Amino acid sequence: MREKIERILLEERVIHARLDELARELELVYAGRALTVVALMNGSLWFAADLLRRIDLPLRLETLRVSSYHGGRESSGVVQFEESWLPEVKGREVLVLDDILDSGRTLDAVCRRLLHAGQASSVRSCVLLRKNKERAVPFEADYVGFDLEDEFVVGFGLDYQGRYRNLRWVGVLSVSPP
Ligand code: 5GP
Ligand code: MG
Repeated sequence: MREKIERILLEERVIHARLDELARELELVYAGRALTVVALMNGSLWFAADLLRRIDLPLRLETLRVSSYHGGRESSGVVQFEESWLPEVKGREVLVLDDILDSGRTLDAVCRRLLHAGQASSVRSCVLLRKNKERAVPFEADYVGFDLEDEFVVGFGLDYQGRYRNLRWVGVLSVSPP
């Protein structure tokens, strides 16, 4: 398979300008509340680091490893929790961060688990990117950085077979037979 970045979708400065706006919005929502952010690894590592440094609130950070893609371009449809334990979120207001909302399965499974098993007092979600497509499950994110068409993207945390995460921007990846 030959892969190449077809085009840049979101430049670095555009992403950072939007993170400023999201941070202001989240500060208003969570001011005076016991906020715990749960960042889904590895995809939301860059998003979380850049967004949370802009939020002037006494928040806690936890991480969860969840997978459904197994390195390819198509979701397997099965959401796997890599650890059996959950972060301590009982009675906390939880904001789950992920890089992208695609089928909705990942965030749906994570939010349910934090709410029911974790006994969080509230669970909302924030994604950097949201694909414009029908979800496989009835789930919508509460806060969204950017909407995009149904294309496979990499960069700013998003990978293809483990690569491209460290790009400073988001681009469309095309993969064709050799
Ligand atoms: P969902 O469970 O909503 O189908 O998918 C969420 C996960 O699938 C994301 O956290 C991300 O890891 C992966 N994913 C979905 N769409 C893309 C994409 O366009 N590019 C990359 N690199 N990963 C994606
Ligand atoms: Mg992911």
